[in-house]
Amino acid sequence: MTYSYLNRRDLIVALSGTGLLAALPLKAAAQVKARLVIVGGGFGGATAARFLKTLLPSASVTLIEANREYYACPFSNLVVAGLRELSAQRFSYEALKSQGIRVVQDHAMKVDPVGRSVQVSSGQTFDYDKLILSPGIDFRWNEIEGYDEAAAEIMPHAWKAGQQTTLLQQQLSKMKDGGVVVMSVPPAPFRCPPGPYERASLIAQYLKTHKPASKLIILDAQDKFSKQPLFEEAWSSLYPDHIERYGASEFGRVVSVSPSSMTLSTEFEDFQADVANVIPPQQAGAIAHHAGVADMTGWCPIDPLTFASTLQPDIHVIGDATIASPMPKSAFSANLQAKLCAMQIARVLAGDSPQPTTLTNTCYSYLSDTTAVSITGVYTNSGGALHSVEGAGGLSPLDAYPIIRQNEALQAKTWFRTITEQTFG
Ligand code: FAD
Repeated sequence: MTYSYLNRRDLIVALSGTGLLAALPLKAAAQVKARLVIVGGGFGGATAARFLKTLLPSASVTLIEANREYYACPFSNLVVAGLRELSAQRFSYEALKSQGIRVVQDHAMKVDPVGRSVQVSSGQTFDYDKLILSPGIDFRWNEIEGYDEAAAEIMPHAWKAGQQTTLLQQQLSKMKDGGVVVMSVPPAPFRCPPGPYERASLIAQYLKTHKPASKLIILDAQDKFSKQPLFEEAWSSLYPDHIERYGASEFGRVVSVSPSSMTLSTEFEDFQADVANVIPPQQAGAIAHHAGVADMTGWCPIDPLTFASTLQPDIHVIGDATIASPMPKSAFSANLQAKLCAMQIARVLAGDSPQPTTLTNTCYSYLSDTTAVSITGVYTNSGGALHSVEGAGGLSPLDAYPIIRQNEALQAKTWFRTITEQTFG
């Protein structure tokens, strides 16, 4: 197999485009010999490892990742709807290794913030000068009564990509025409705020095309959701007979499930499903809790300038695990937070101080296999908080010509290719 790896120049060019590189003492940075450890090799962690090694080439960079390969969630809703192969979601760590990053395939179990070390399940420990945690999310099992890891094998969440994605896709393809698919959406915050509604659109397209007598019921713990007018416009024109949604004020929140009878229950009603997609409530990945960087909310408070934990200053946290609102929990955000965090760590280790920056996020959502919409936000991190920049960013227009939606679907593909190349390629 051949890999076309991005080189140091490509990665520095990617940073300069964000304005993050301004005035970094590159010469001093090149001499830094720190021990840098990153836990979690997803969009946040793998990007952080690559950019740290790029900015601090003499430092030792170790990435601890539980899995041998990474399955990306963005575009996995296309896999659920039978429009894409799961193999297109799979990425390896070979490029990171060839860049001089030590990739340890193991589960980080413990962090000692005082002694500054991470212990993995084999018992080995890794000392660090700076630690970045990017563990993504874990599920709050049993917060929906009856929904635990065993139940997820019958009522898949498919909210971590891989085997769960395939399971949901297979259940849909085996379902009889006339069947009922029920999806449960948790209360915010959760990974990828528009993700459930993109999935609903693509499942509805699958039903309309292959099983036209079937329908999708969305039981939603939220009343309002990301890109709502755009999704609702598409649903009423494309899938009027295939999607029914109950929001929180219509008692849509699922409180319990029974996998044996394939029932999802709200406070007032039981819904019988042929296929059930239960997206459970979420929190920061377990290692964040073990490291003492998660608070009572289950998520990790950070200093928005550097993404240093406000609870354990030598530990940085990026990606879905953080409290970084108004930035959403997205791969785009995780990747940019990783670059920012790597940049600020490089600055500090090179004897400089962190600088405020501007951050952005764009999330594309498919409405069908050929059309998409997007939302863009722009944020500042000065003054101790992340703020949206008023008047910047925005949403795709309502009532747009089909060509606009088709162009956005093409842009989404380019975005996916670019971000996965920057992270893994
Ligand atoms: P992850 O990417 O989940 O990476 C975490 C990594 O840490 C994993 O590889 C895990 O194995 C590892 N890990 C965890 N704990 C340990 C440990 N103790 N030891 C070792 N390794 C550990 N975002 C977008 O921007 N655009 C989209 O279109 C989009 N679509 C989505 C669609 C769906 C259906 C879903 C579910 C999500 C989507 N997202 C999208 C969101 C995106 O996938 C996440 O926001 C992103 O993956 C977050 O990156 P992360 O680094 O925080 O976590």
